[in-house]
Amino acid sequence: MGRKEIILDITENRPLKATIDVNFKGKPISEYFGINCFDDNKMKKFLSGSAYRALKKIIREGGKIDNKLAEKVAEGMKRWAISRGATHFAHWFQPLTGLTAEKHDSFLSFDRKGLPIEKFSGKNLCVGEPDASSFPSGGLRTTFEARGYTIWDPTSPAFLMESLNGSILCIPSVFLSYNGEALDKKTPLIRSMEKLSEAAVRILRLFGNKKVKRVWAAVGPEQEYFLVDKTYFNHRPDLILTGRTLFGAMPPKGQEMEDHYFGSIKERILNFMLDVEVELYKLGIPVKTRHNEVAPAQYEIAPIYEDCNIATDHNQIIMEVMRKVANRHNLALLLHEKPFLGINGSGKHNNWSLIDSEGNNLLEPGKTPHENLQFLTFLIATTKAVYKYADLLRASVATAGNDHRLGANEAPPAIISVFLGEQLTNILNNLLERKKTEFTDNDIIDLGINKLPVISKDNTDRNRTSPFAFTGNKFEFRAVGSSQSISTPNMTLNVMVCDVLNEFADKIEENLKKYNDFNTAVMEVIIEAIKETKPIYFEGNNYDPEWEKEAQRRGLPNYKTTPEALKTLLLPKNKELFIKYNVLSESEIKSRYNIFIEKYNKTINIEAETAIMMAKTIILPAVLKYQTLLANNIYSLQIAKLNSNDIIDSQSRFLNYYSKLVKDLNEKISNLENKLEKVSNIEDEEKKAEYYCKEILTAMQELRNVVDKLEEDTDDEYWTLPKYREMLYIF
Ligand code: ADP
Ligand code: MG
Repeated sequence: MGRKEIILDITENRPLKATIDVNFKGKPISEYFGINCFDDNKMKKFLSGSAYRALKKIIREGGKIDNKLAEKVAEGMKRWAISRGATHFAHWFQPLTGLTAEKHDSFLSFDRKGLPIEKFSGKNLCVGEPDASSFPSGGLRTTFEARGYTIWDPTSPAFLMESLNGSILCIPSVFLSYNGEALDKKTPLIRSMEKLSEAAVRILRLFGNKKVKRVWAAVGPEQEYFLVDKTYFNHRPDLILTGRTLFGAMPPKGQEMEDHYFGSIKERILNFMLDVEVELYKLGIPVKTRHNEVAPAQYEIAPIYEDCNIATDHNQIIMEVMRKVANRHNLALLLHEKPFLGINGSGKHNNWSLIDSEGNNLLEPGKTPHENLQFLTFLIATTKAVYKYADLLRASVATAGNDHRLGANEAPPAIISVFLGEQLTNILNNLLERKKTEFTDNDIIDLGINKLPVISKDNTDRNRTSPFAFTGNKFEFRAVGSSQSISTPNMTLNVMVCDVLNEFADKIEENLKKYNDFNTAVMEVIIEAIKETKPIYFEGNNYDPEWEKEAQRRGLPNYKTTPEALKTLLLPKNKELFIKYNVLSESEIKSRYNIFIEKYNKTINIEAETAIMMAKTIILPAVLKYQTLLANNIYSLQIAKLNSNDIIDSQSRFLNYYSKLVKDLNEKISNLENKLEKVSNIEDEEKKAEYYCKEILTAMQELRNVVDKLEEDTDDEYWTLPKYREMLYIF
């Protein structure tokens, strides 16, 4: 099918008919929310009172699940799952590929008489032993001891994955090696939450709070994505194999009109969104917001925030469900950070705050000076953590795909800085000068007590270019990639903030011996931290090239590429952080480093191979045909013996120009091929990464530049690859 036929096919067979689960279409969400989730209601219904209470206690406070309780929970879960049509169960886990994994087993078993029955034991629930030796371990396992274990994580609810022909009971699990080392993304996240909670409670105790039992990191990730028609997708080997377009000239209309952002949503897309949301509501995933994003064909979905472990699981499920449902609508979901060059990329805005077991947001400015002192403590602890571990935070979002956003002139930059807004900045500056903060605003009253201002929640103050912005009562970490799991960024955030909270607690305890006034003891810690971390605060435009120079003067790290950024994982101060809080061991850190570097190398290798394949088998044949057409045309003109040589001359000039491009194309293909061949001479993965980053990506870009020029000069008929103007605009 050529491009023209594809357009016809899409416009004529626009699949507006794909519909949502008819049982729920148009029903109030509350009627079916969580129907596929073993949530509190199901636990109450399918567990005995004592089992329910015991399980809830463990979910709330941690602890070991004994065999008896496990048997009871398994039985209840099985009855529920079977009542909803499940025939199989699976431990659902998150290996270091960044994706999710599942291995299904049926409930089928046989009783003593040899009759078929459904069985799901406590052991089935708690432990799985998927051979799973092919998952990356980065050196943690050798194949002869390749066994990995999946272990049920009761804090994230089990759910049913449905397909037309049946359902699977999915049990969120961690994935460990035989020695108990983390082979997954969930284990360190859970460890970090525990440590963060301990540190935050320690601070609260100093503030005289005896009630709070734990503190959890609340996370609401806003997910950006693109949709293109599946037929276009199928005709783009680069989208299929790499998730991004490796070629493609900018269309005459890009995003300059800003007519897509928050625009009315096309019917076909809205149908998709409604379908996705029904599936997510059934799973108990509280998605709340949807809208068109800045780029054409770009959208966003955002849930209501949840505990960061559950938010992580739910974000993984959201991505999976969107991919599946897109297929039903003959759409392809693009989660890549930069599917289209020259058009905005996609990220995840990771909204993060700290909420205590009494339901108070610790990053919410308070009503009294005492509350505000506590607020400032948590606020400044977070900003100090970002200052101290800016490199780690950058490394936590380092992937080949995200480099196209962070390293390039796009939102946000690779330089990590913190935006606080005018009001807070003003307060901080005054604190430094030990001046009283005066306010004119009506709802802000300076009580003037001991230099402690009352702070209002200010939602209007926004800086969209900041990678780490305070937005009223939460921080928004905007550098997270759209396709990546939010686990690593949040694990990193949790542990670094935990570290500074402990440091603050130590210092406050110290100061209490010096000053007998609590407020002064805390205030001195805060002021010292503000002084020390001044370079991290930036209120200006992060895209401004001047900022890069300014950041350098301030000594802020600026790692534009993944290989550079990842190296910081191995810096002594960063390793110590993870090891100190038992979030990652030395070998777990190394294994992660190895896996991430290897993944980077593989990603770019696939991209380069795909670029060569497309250039040779799709683009070169097309331009050769057109070149022949041009040559034949001149030949015919010569035979026709036209009087005017001008006509032939101008044709020849164009052929000449075009032929130079074709020659260039051939050269750039060879160049990339030659460079790629040399990779095999490099043994060391780290050196390989540097080579891919410097040599291969450059050679790919040079090839792309020629191809994109040729696209603009070649007969539309000959160009078989779907073009940007079609993929982005025709639905
Ligand atoms: P924005 O104006 O940035 O779009 P929203 O209020 O719409 O802000 O929230 C965006 C995301 O932030 C949502 O996923 C929301 O649930 C989440 N969010 C809101 N408050 C918090 C909080 N205290 N902690 C973590 N996430 C939050
Ligand atoms: Mg937001």
